[in-house]
Amino acid sequence: MGNGPVYPCAVPRLKRVKRIALLGATGSIGRQALEIIDAHPALQLVAAASGSQPVDGLAPLTQVGGDLTELLERAEPDLVLNAVTGFAGLPATMWALERGIDLALANKESLVAAGELALAAQRRGGGRLLPVDSEHSALFQCLEGRNPEQVDSLVLTASGGPFRGRSREELEDVTPAEALAHPTWNMGPKITIDSATLANKGLELIEAHFLFGVPYERIEIVIHPTSTVHSLVRFRDGAALAHLGYPDMRVPISFALTYPDRAPTPVPALDLAGGLTLEFSAPDEETFPLLRLARTAGEKGGTYPCVFNAANEAAVAAFLAGRLSFLGIAAVVADALDAADGAPVRDLDELIDVDREARRLPVA
Ligand code: NDP
Ligand code: MG
Repeated sequence: MGNGPVYPCAVPRLKRVKRIALLGATGSIGRQALEIIDAHPALQLVAAASGSQPVDGLAPLTQVGGDLTELLERAEPDLVLNAVTGFAGLPATMWALERGIDLALANKESLVAAGELALAAQRRGGGRLLPVDSEHSALFQCLEGRNPEQVDSLVLTASGGPFRGRSREELEDVTPAEALAHPTWNMGPKITIDSATLANKGLELIEAHFLFGVPYERIEIVIHPTSTVHSLVRFRDGAALAHLGYPDMRVPISFALTYPDRAPTPVPALDLAGGLTLEFSAPDEETFPLLRLARTAGEKGGTYPCVFNAANEAAVAAFLAGRLSFLGIAAVVADALDAADGAPVRDLDELIDVDREARRLPVA
């Protein structure tokens, strides 16, 4: 590997207005982003979009559904915050990366499905890819300015979700309402179900691989129920750097929007003397097979991660609609991966076909 730092490291610059396009403005991340933008005079909301809920008056330019790149073309943002849920966020991710416009990425599904295409677009465009996912924001901060040669491994923490410690038998009859009750994070329904199945951590594993260029065998997942440590980097000298804080998405959202200035947020400083316990354990991949399926899909590469994501999205929607059992989600994803040929990704149109095909699996 070459000399000097390879992971990006930027110094705070003179304050100037940053024009922000917020996609997914009505969602959990979107609403928290609006709070951050409102409180920061240098952040200017120029465009806002949603899937179906009204966003009139939220920004000078708004759009509900449709092709979000049309809105982005008109808005000419300095930064796109992609907080859309699911594969639907992909065109916006590619639009920003291709043009070298900074991308604050909450929409992990687009990077999972199109990792190689997205990274190639980023290399051409030359813009920043700033993770909003709390674990990846943590890793980005621990890695900032370091040479990849010094990195031993990445450790992603997972709360374990509402069903941590349960057996497969105990998960047979769980309802959407039970699965939607997350112990530490208050999020949109799709990611909340993904947290209960551990598919979210599987998506995050693939996301981390693409964001930081670390091979899968050097990315570990550990269960950490309180979500205080957001992730860690182990270095080759035996040291590990961790990122700690209360589980509050306003911190990584603000970090990405104000990068590299690290503006203040209303989130309180971590109280250590008040009694902070840090507990870690290995994930139970027998009970929660989606984590293992994601790792296999990531390692096999090609279109397998896209298939994993698409089948999971379809299965989660079916579970939320009462058409599929909780354990059925992993079964559907396993079937879709078995049925896929995982051919290498060549272009976006092919990927869209692969995504569509992987959603067609029966959910019975
Ligand atoms: P929500 O379900 O709360 O919000 C989703 C947003 O996306 C809504 O504004 C929705 O609009 C919009 N949307 C959905 N489909 C489309 C579409 N086709 N076109 C335009 N907009 C669309 O989700 P979250 O905010 O929880 O999650 C958003 C993303 O951030 C996901 O990728 C998730 O994995 C990621 N993330 C979320 C975290 C969290 O704490 N919530 C943490 C880490 C990552 P409408 O309301 O009109 O349907
Ligand atoms: Mg996360």
